[in-house]
Amino acid sequence: MLERILVDNAETYNACLQERIEAWKLQRKSITYRDQQDELTELRKDERFQWLACDIQRDPLRRVDRAFKAFFRRVKAKSGKAGFPRFRARARYDSFAFSLPVCRERSIKIPNVGDIRARGGRSITGREKLCTIKRDGNRWTASVVCDIGPAPEKVTVSTAVGIDVGLTTLATLSNGVEIENPRWTRKHERRIADAGRVLARKQKRSNNRTRARQALRRAHQCAANARLNYIHHVSKWLISTFDLIVHEKLNIHGMSQGRLAKSIMDAAWGILLYQLKYKAEEAGVWVVPVNPRGTSQRCSNCGEVVKKTLSQRVHSCPNCGLELGRDHNAARNILSLGMSDAGASLQNLALLPSGGLK
Ligand SMILES: [Zn+2]
Repeated sequence: MLERILVDNAETYNACLQERIEAWKLQRKSITYRDQQDELTELRKDERFQWLACDIQRDPLRRVDRAFKAFFRRVKAKSGKAGFPRFRARARYDSFAFSLPVCRERSIKIPNVGDIRARGGRSITGREKLCTIKRDGNRWTASVVCDIGPAPEKVTVSTAVGIDVGLTTLATLSNGVEIENPRWTRKHERRIADAGRVLARKQKRSNNRTRARQALRRAHQCAANARLNYIHHVSKWLISTFDLIVHEKLNIHGMSQGRLAKSIMDAAWGILLYQLKYKAEEAGVWVVPVNPRGTSQRCSNCGEVVKKTLSQRVHSCPNCGLELGRDHNAARNILSLGMSDAGASLQNLALLPSGGLK
C-alpha cells in the first residue's frame, strides 16, 4: 500500500509540474496551489481516485507549490543557480506526508490504509501535527512533528562557549577542548568509496548492479547512523554543559561538493547545528550564530590581525605574544562576538567549565 501511494503521488507530482509549465508556456498563465487543489477535488468525484485519502493526495500539490516558491525566491535573491523544479522519477520519489496522525504505542494510523506497526524511536509527547512516511532503502520510517507547547524561558548565562569547526577535528571549543572525529569515520569513508567503485564497474540494468547499488546505500546508511549517534552525544553534552553556545553562521552554498572527506565533515557540522538548535530550544539554552569573517586571523587577546595561510595551524601573535592553536583562537573570537551580540559580559568567561567530552 505504501509503495502504491508513492507511485501515485509521484505521478500526481509530475502532472502538477507539467500543468504549471505548460500553462505558462502556452498562455503565460501561472497556476496556483488553490487551482490545483480545486482540480483535485473535481477529479476525486471519480471513484478511481478515492482510494487514497485526500490529505495524502494533496501532498504532491503542496510539494510542487513549495518547489516553485523556493525557485522564485532563489531567482529573486540571485544567489547562484536558481534551479528550476524538476520532474521526479518514481524510484526517487520517496516520501509522503499527512496531517494530524494518530500515533499509538506500537502503531501509526495512515488514513485509508489503517494501522501500521511501528517500533523504536522516541515516544511521542505533545500533540501530533504532521507525519512523514519515508522509504529508505528497504526500510520505512515515520517522523512525526508534535506541538509540545511554548518553549521554556531562556536561562541566565553563567557558562558560555564558542565553537569553531575544523578540518581535522569536528569542533574546537573556546576553552581549548577539541572534539575529535571518531576513529571509525575513515573506515566508513573507505567503505562508501569502495562500494561506489564496485557499482561503477557493473553493467547497466544488471542484477549485479542492483545488488551493488544496495550495498552502496547500506554503506551510506551505516555511516549516517553512526554519525547521527555520535553527534547526538556531542550536542547533548554541549547543551548540558553550557548556557550560551556561539557558533559560526553556516554558509550552505559555500560548502564543498568535491572531496568525500570534506563533504562528510560539512554534513556532520550541519547535523550538529540542527541538533544544538532544537535541544537548546527545549532546554532554554542560548545558541547564537555569528559571522565568522576574520575570526581565524584576528588575535583573540589583543585584536591584532595575524595573517596566516590555511596550513598554518598555530596562531602566534607578535603584538601580545599569545600562542594558541589556530582553531582555539578562532573559537575564542567566535565566543566574544557572540557575547557582545547576546549582551552578556566577558567577565563570565572566568566561570568557564573546563574538561572535555565524556
Ligand atoms: Zn595578540
